[in-house]
Formats: sequence, C-alpha cells, structure tokens
Amino acid sequence: KLAHLPYRKTLEEFDFAFQPSIDERLIRELATMTFVTRHENVLFLGPPGVGKSHLAVALAVEAISQGISVYFVSLSHLIEDLRKAYMENRLDKRIRIYIRPKLLVIDEIGYLPFDSLAANLFFQVVSARYERGSILLTSNKSFGEWGELMGDPILATAILDRLLHHSHIVNIRGNSYRLREKMRTGAYG
Ligand code: ADP
Repeated sequence: KLAHLPYRKTLEEFDFAFQPSIDERLIRELATMTFVTRHENVLFLGPPGVGKSHLAVALAVEAISQGISVYFVSLSHLIEDLRKAYMENRLDKRIRIYIRPKLLVIDEIGYLPFDSLAANLFFQVVSARYERGSILLTSNKSFGEWGELMGDPILATAILDRLLHHSHIVNIRGNSYRLREKMRTGAYG
C-alpha cells in the first residue's frame, strides 16, 4: 500500500480539455513539488466528479516518484482513526502518522458533518502541520460553508486561517466527468 493511495491515477490520464476552468500550467507547476519544499498547501474545490480526487492522487503519485514522503487519507478515515486513538488515550502517538510525511493528502472534505471532537482533531492536524508540512485537500464545500460543516464557525475560521495562509487554491467549475458518458449517450436527454 504505497502511501495508502486508494487507486493510481496520473496527470497524463487527466483530460484538461474537458475541464477548462482548471489552469493546466498551475497543475504542472504544482507537479514540480516546489510547494512541498515551501510547506505550502493546495486546495482543490468544486462539485462532485470534476476531478479533484484524480488530481490529488496524481500529485501524490508525482511526489512519491520524486522521493517525497506522502500519506493519503480520506477525511472520514482520518477522523475515525484519530477519534479511536483519542478514546484509547494514544492520540499523541497516532497523530504523528499525519504530521510526519512531507505531504499529507486529505480527500473529500464536506461529505460528512463534523461533531465537536472531529473539528478539534482536524484543527490539531492542521495546526501541527502549519508552516511545517504541506497539506493537499479536496472539498466540495466553499469556504463560506465550512463554519456550518464543522458546527463551529470560530474553529472553522482558525482552521481556514492556517490552511490558506500559504496556499494554492484551485476552484473547479464544470461538469461531472462521471456523467459525461451518460450525457453523450443521451441518457440525460
Ligand atoms: P471528484 O473528486 O471531484 O468528485 P474524481 O476525481 O473522483 O472527482 O473524478 C471522478 C471520475 O472521473 C474519476 O474516475 C476520475 O478519474 C475521472 N475524471 C474526472 N475528471 C477527469 C478528467 N478531466 N479527465 C479524465 N478523467 C477524469
């Protein structure tokens, strides 16, 4: 299980022509991994199916090929893992898994609401990595919706403050690639 990637996708397999709102040059620049050396974050935002996870995996693959340590995790897995560690009084040890790698990829923020422990655990990870190691995350929620998502607008602001301070934001507006075939075959017509 290389860096816990859920599957393997590359930038070469990504059809930039299908998603014109993505600046291909920025993605190619991110693939040089300079952002990791600078401890900057990358945020892919947009509706489901526009390629956020694909790009996150592809950049993780690129990082690994350059010898950069990477850990890939979905937000729900991260929270459940740290929640369990917290309950068992071994949070300090377990959280290191998410602090040590040079690049931490957190996929799918926004599909599940946070309770207050979840929001606190997420804050701890973001704080511990702040200006020390990069986070690449994907979310279907805009920043304005994070307060409600986390059930705590002040904590959400503190998290966003740290995430966005040194960051590259990729806003993707467009159609779901998953529905492409269906639209082409007229299933939606
Ligand atoms: P999101 O994370 O935004 O919900 P995904 O990255 O999971 O979307 O994309 C859904 C599926 O469509 C995946 O199989 C992905 O590889 C594919 N896909 C999405 N956008 C593109 C694209 N522009 N070119 C090639 N495949 C794409």
